[in-house]
Amino acid sequence: MMMNSANASAKQEKINLFDFDRKGLETFFVDLGEKKFRATQLLKWLYHEQVYDFSEMTNFSKSMRQYLSEQCTLELPEILFEQIASDGTRKWIIEMNAGNRIESVFIPEENRGTLCVSSQIGCALACTFCSTARQGFNRNLAVSEIIGQLLVARQRLAEDARITNVVMMGMGEPLLNFDHVVAAMNLMMDDFGFGLSKRRVTVSTSGIVPAMNRLHDVCDVSMAVSLHAANDELRNELVPINQKYPLAELMIACAEYASLGPRKHITFEYVMLAGINDSLEDARTLVKLLRQVPSKVNLIPFNPFPNSNYRCSSKSAIQRFKDVLHQAGIVTTIRKTRGDDIDAACGQLVGKVKDKSRRQLKLQQMGVIHAD
Ligand code: SAH
Repeated sequence: MMMNSANASAKQEKINLFDFDRKGLETFFVDLGEKKFRATQLLKWLYHEQVYDFSEMTNFSKSMRQYLSEQCTLELPEILFEQIASDGTRKWIIEMNAGNRIESVFIPEENRGTLCVSSQIGCALACTFCSTARQGFNRNLAVSEIIGQLLVARQRLAEDARITNVVMMGMGEPLLNFDHVVAAMNLMMDDFGFGLSKRRVTVSTSGIVPAMNRLHDVCDVSMAVSLHAANDELRNELVPINQKYPLAELMIACAEYASLGPRKHITFEYVMLAGINDSLEDARTLVKLLRQVPSKVNLIPFNPFPNSNYRCSSKSAIQRFKDVLHQAGIVTTIRKTRGDDIDAACGQLVGKVKDKSRRQLKLQQMGVIHAD
């Protein structure tokens, strides 16, 4: 057989079957003239048996196995580097294409293990207190690169620990990579995928209102909203996407999402910044704002990074803030900072981003960051 450049380019165009959720795989098999249940069979091989070689998939006919080997591939990202913090938190730097790297973090606790998953290379938003924002933006991750973070983490953890929860709280804004994130979350919850319950999969968003409104139609997961300020003036500054989707609209979207499932609530994340958003008045404004929505609040001690220009609120300020919310009947927790000795804490994930947004350049010109 002649190997020529046509073969080489055909090879490049192979379909990566990790890019499909169940629905996508069903369409793929039906288009081949096969029955839908082939999708379930393939999911079982991939996610339950961890068999990634088509020739070993014995319930497919020989000709089907051959077709899959020729036309399809099963490609996952690779862990480049692992760091383990003193509290057992693990950070993995994962290699994507063209020198881009993202980060995933595994947080072991007594009764659960939470994987913090990235959705984009960098982030297009410019939240002022987040170091991922400083990296600029390169591109959305593919489904295979998102679900791949669970697969490679599971492989690496082996018998040591189990992934019981996933939070889409790594690098990127998940709802700006809507279709891929939804497909990946469907795979996390599919009985023949990772089989996690919808309570144990959480999407975190800075408040992309139209996408929040679309989400419940296609994927019923828990939702966390990065609020950080209870009035528009401050939120416009800290979370600039607020200028597009202000609090009034955001709260309506939250109430709507919460109303759709039984006993649903929204978790509001609120980073504690000394002298910026941590006064008693801020707490009272927050209580008023949250009246419209069944809420839980998660106060996040600010994690510093080089040139971050903010300080974390004092322990007592955080406690006083919590007390106000608590007295108003809002369940409030203070997030325990995990993995900070390996820069794996919230807002510290930077990866390595070939910035296409030119944000790094602008920040360098403004003297906010320095060129390496
Ligand atoms: N873009 C999504 C997903 C990222 S989640 C979102 O905004 O929700 C990461 C969480 O960590 C968000 O709540 C974010 O606001 C918070 N965070 C970012 N930088 C932080 C920092 N330096 N210290 C503490 N929390 C931070």
